[in-house]
Amino acid sequence: MNSFEEIGLKGGLLKAIEELGFEKPTPIQATTIPHILTTNQDLIAAAQTGTGKTAAFGLPAIQLTNIDEKRTQTLVLCPTRELCVQIASDLKNFAKHSSGLNVVAVYGGASIEPQMKALNRGAHIVVGTPGRTKDLIRRKKLLLKNVVRVVLDEADEMLTMGFKEDLEAILGETPREKQTLLFSATISKAVTNITNNYMNDAVEISASRENIGAENVTHLYYMVQAKNRYELLKRIADVNPTIYGIVFCRTRRETKDIANKLIQDGYNADALHGDLSQAQRDEVMGRFRKRHLQLLVATDVAARGLDVDDLTHIVNYNLPDEAEVYVHRSGRTGRAGKSGISIVLIHTRETNKINEIERKFGIKFSREQVPSGKDICTVQLFALIDKIEKVQVDEKQIEPFLQTIYDKLEHLNREELIKHFVSAEFNRFLNYYKNARDISAPGNEREERRGKRDRGDRNAGSDRRRSVLTRLFINIGSKNKLTPARLIGLINEGLDSGDVEVGKIEVMKTFSFFELDSSKANTLINALKGQSHDGVSLIVEPSQEKPKGRFFDKSRPSDQFRSKKKDKKRGAWNKNKGFGGRRDRRKRN
Ligand code: ADP
Ligand code: MG
Repeated sequence: MNSFEEIGLKGGLLKAIEELGFEKPTPIQATTIPHILTTNQDLIAAAQTGTGKTAAFGLPAIQLTNIDEKRTQTLVLCPTRELCVQIASDLKNFAKHSSGLNVVAVYGGASIEPQMKALNRGAHIVVGTPGRTKDLIRRKKLLLKNVVRVVLDEADEMLTMGFKEDLEAILGETPREKQTLLFSATISKAVTNITNNYMNDAVEISASRENIGAENVTHLYYMVQAKNRYELLKRIADVNPTIYGIVFCRTRRETKDIANKLIQDGYNADALHGDLSQAQRDEVMGRFRKRHLQLLVATDVAARGLDVDDLTHIVNYNLPDEAEVYVHRSGRTGRAGKSGISIVLIHTRETNKINEIERKFGIKFSREQVPSGKDICTVQLFALIDKIEKVQVDEKQIEPFLQTIYDKLEHLNREELIKHFVSAEFNRFLNYYKNARDISAPGNEREERRGKRDRGDRNAGSDRRRSVLTRLFINIGSKNKLTPARLIGLINEGLDSGDVEVGKIEVMKTFSFFELDSSKANTLINALKGQSHDGVSLIVEPSQEKPKGRFFDKSRPSDQFRSKKKDKKRGAWNKNKGFGGRRDRRKRN
């Protein structure tokens, strides 16, 4: 691929790019930058998160700016305040050596006065959210008569968020003969409407699916029963003591719930979701960026477009409904030449979703063994030893205390001393994981069952199940594209939870039956009432009928993992691999 110089960038910009460590243009940059530099033709660019879109429009816009003209020449519109701040900061970085160039960010949820003052001082490039931008135009503080180009960044998201009318109003204020540049992860119907109505003879560029970091991302999945999902998340965090990542959840409620549990359990985590005020969001993001938080639990919308470098892990607490969203999520790690790990937590009926992502995007997943208590203790122990070895000793501060400490510990020899120091820190983990269960599926369920058989109470399991599960009817079936996985998705959405116990599922042609934790049955009946699926208004009610056939029966081992071989147990610490190295991995069957 060509260098930044070869595609037409010059002087201070090249210096700034070099300082940022960009070696060569990304595919979307390589096509859009020369286009913007050399023509006035409108442009529609489709490329996913993490493909370097900001520089794709930002670098040429900066180069084309006439510094002596104080009026606004480029207007960039984007959906959220966080993105707005981030784009403006990226542009300022790009323009570091382009002296005199002013970039101003205007967004809601913050006082308007400083923004008006900044505009008054002259803003060559304005980056704004639609609402505030419209407001400033109305107040005649933002004049768009001299605008040469308008960038619509994350156009699909702006439209989903209901900014259509604002966008139209703003575009109406700009000169006719400007260049419109639209960037979007997906070209939805709503986006096409905008392009048809507000763009002329646009060139369409779609960058390859490849993310900047795609090849640096390792995709792993862990399989447990739904009810063990949270326990698994904790183990993943514990087995990666230096984890710095985003945990994606599907709903706001789940996001809050998981973050609260993590905080209570002593993890360095917090939540980012749409129910937070702007100030709260800023505060959480600030702590995360500074790495004061290790785990950010977030919904897709709240985390959209946010760019935090150096994430070690992306954790999909639940898989998204759309396979594409998985690609967006995982593209947030493994950036700028670094390697990253994208982890998916699935329950036993979700392997088809993994297969779908593999097929659609040419991604390969490997199944990872759920870390055992021993694995975690090993990792934590060595992390602790490493910390002790590398800790900075402040000789001066500690000096006055040392003599007393020496005296007190005099009776301990070197070996005993080490044991004491390590135990002081480490006992917490040891205690917690001492009797840790094996939660990996399917091994544990089978063992539980075997245990019961050995004790001679063969029916205990099924009796207990029958007493807590209620059989429900739903008025959709395979004809409505319902599959067991889809049905579980509907149940989880209806209950706003991923942990509810689901029993037998029977999908018929036009209706289905399923068993559900009795205490949740009424909630689900009410939650799904009137919702629609595949154009059918849903009805869920208790079923009186006896089951006719068995399609998926959780209590039948043969149904559970028809294609899975029993997982091999593995030792925790392997001398050849080392504790921090790649974990013992097994190809999926
Ligand atoms: P998008 O808007 O497509 O989601 P961004 O513009 O936010 O992506 O860029 C994602 C990350 O990639 C940022 O950290 C950015 O600094 C980095 N980046 C952009 N262009 C390059 C490049 N040519 N080489 C290396 N890193 C880049
Ligand atoms: Mg972007």
